[in-house]
Amino acid sequence: MTRILFWLALVFLVVHAVRSKLREFQQPREPEPGPAAPTPTPSARQARADARAIAEAETMLCCAHCGIYYPASETVRSKGRDYCSVAHAALPTA
Ligand SMILES: [Zn+2]
Repeated sequence: MTRILFWLALVFLVVHAVRSKLREFQQPREPEPGPAAPTPTPSARQARADARAIAEAETMLCCAHCGIYYPASETVRSKGRDYCSVAHAALPTA
């Protein structure tokens, strides 16, 4: 009997946790209530910072040998393929 109660309680807790997480994802966060500011808001500043971060983001490439993703500036080109390191570029291709 104790085991059944334990499992029921466990199932209830898991279902409750999953439902609360789903509710958290479904409800978009409401903006903070406050006086309207005519100057650029923190969200406008955030948008500019995001745009700058996207502009600075570097292209990632996939190594032809191991499949790892690495910055394009670190690529080692060999036989028309991109590799993450000199060691992988030197390995014979299968
Ligand atoms: Zn590699």
